Amino acid sequence: MKRRTFLRGGLAAGLLSASGCSVPRAMSQALNGNGHDGDPIKLMYNENPLGLCEAARQAVIDGIVDANRYPDVPTKALVEAIARKHGVNTSNIVLGNGSTEALQMAVQVFGQEGVRFIQAVPTYEDVTRYAVPYDLEIVRLPLTSTHAHDIQRMKEEVAKSSGPSVIYFCQPNNPTGTITPSKDIDDWISSAGEDVCFLMDEAYYEYAEPAADYHTALPWIETHPNVVVFRTFSKVYGMAGLRLGYAVAHPDTAVKLTELQLAIPANHLALMAGMASLKDPNFLAHSVAMNTAARKILLSTLDELELAHLPSHTNFVMHRIRGDQDLYRSRMLEAGFMVGRNFPPMLEYSRLSLGTPEQMEQFVETLRAFRSKDWV
Ligand code: PLP
Repeated sequence: MKRRTFLRGGLAAGLLSASGCSVPRAMSQALNGNGHDGDPIKLMYNENPLGLCEAARQAVIDGIVDANRYPDVPTKALVEAIARKHGVNTSNIVLGNGSTEALQMAVQVFGQEGVRFIQAVPTYEDVTRYAVPYDLEIVRLPLTSTHAHDIQRMKEEVAKSSGPSVIYFCQPNNPTGTITPSKDIDDWISSAGEDVCFLMDEAYYEYAEPAADYHTALPWIETHPNVVVFRTFSKVYGMAGLRLGYAVAHPDTAVKLTELQLAIPANHLALMAGMASLKDPNFLAHSVAMNTAARKILLSTLDELELAHLPSHTNFVMHRIRGDQDLYRSRMLEAGFMVGRNFPPMLEYSRLSLGTPEQMEQFVETLRAFRSKDWV
């Protein structure tokens, strides 16, 4: 029934958009994976099920009246607020249409001919996609047995070439949710030459519990033009659909990134929501606490069902599923949940993005029902 509702909605929305009509609000909500009106709950893109904080919602509504203006003043204000948040200067911040655009700019800046682009597998693949048009040599190295980036092998790859290298660190890593000991990364950065560039993707930074072996790479940007840190409003602030992210870099590197930046890097409503999110004193902690509660529900059920899982420092969990993944996904969709795709080579795992605790209660009930049928 739920699946039929979903398909019906999709077909109708497709026909409407093909005919040039806009999708009515109720229907567009129903297609957005938030579980309204029986549509499936989307647990597949590592989005924040809470959505925007109240202040950000209000800021978007209030901001509509100025949406006819180019947002130069709000852009400047947000860059200042981000710089204050990180204790850096505005000359260190480069905004993007999501952090993915900032990553794209960085690949363009550092991806000259002859550069080796070194990354883990599996990891966040969009960055690889940005490297493809530049004809770089892409080197993919399996994660270690603890699902960390294999720094030793990365270093060996760097040593094989006399030219520059770009190292992509997804920290914590997507899709595994695991971290690489920060000390090992720090040791490498401190000893690496200037021609080894480190792209430090910290999209899920806020979800990682403070730990002895995990911290941000931000302090490096003060002295190291070869280190760039990427952050986003998509995850912990629930703004994925508004598109806002940024790079934090040494001013020399920030200038180069800015040369590739759009003249107007973010839209007015995203800027309004971003500013309100940063000012909200409680939302970030609330968002993280909700995620922790949701993760606890999932992990205890995975343990109960003896489905192994990786240690998650993010808003998603990589866990084992017995049997065929495609079949599992289609059964989950039928039951009202959209779960993550395949992430080769970890084909016996499923990546589940965390919903609200209530959604996770529904999900684990479904998982238990699947077990009773011997499906997982
Ligand atoms: N980096 C990682 C590791 C991600 O998982 C994602 C999105 O899922 C992004 C960057 C892109 O995020 P944004 O929405 O800021 O473009």
